[in-house]
Amino acid sequence: MGRENIDNWHVKKCAKACDGCEEKFQHNQELFSYLFFDEGEYTRQDFCEQCSKKEHPALSTWKTVFIIPPPVEEVVKKENVESLLRKLMAKEDEEDLSAIFILTVMLERKKILVERDTQKTEDLRKLRIYEHKKTGESFMIIDPELKLDELEQVQERVVLLLGGKPRKAAPEALLELEIEK
Ligand SMILES: [Zn+2]
Repeated sequence: MGRENIDNWHVKKCAKACDGCEEKFQHNQELFSYLFFDEGEYTRQDFCEQCSKKEHPALSTWKTVFIIPPPVEEVVKKENVESLLRKLMAKEDEEDLSAIFILTVMLERKKILVERDTQKTEDLRKLRIYEHKKTGESFMIIDPELKLDELEQVQERVVLLLGGKPRKAAPEALLELEIEK
């Protein structure tokens, strides 16, 4: 599989200051996140309320709260599913897309990630945009639109990657997973 779409899925950090007036964000300040698609690349900008009133040609926008994020390592240490997700995303391997998606759904169920929007990529794949509740990062995840028979295989792989045993003792979250038709 090609790597030409690799830029589609990424973790984008929240800016520390407004991309308009450059005023530093305060802890718990309301801000507005914008996702742009420009020259084949996704970029994220964050604006204070005042600057968000200007017109921006954004693809997606959502309101959020700025939090001074804890160091990523601290968040990751506690979270097996999350550390695996970050590891797979950093590898940038198309082969991992399905596992990445399953891990994302698990974190969404744990309310660690919140879905903010869905978009189509240039090659018409479904791109889901999540926000990390503790760090404010945006996670851009390609939905592999798994079929039921593929799902079982991917789930088994994820269980193995998480250090579990296949076919038994699968984490509850995996067994509950449903696929949108
Ligand atoms: Zn501003």
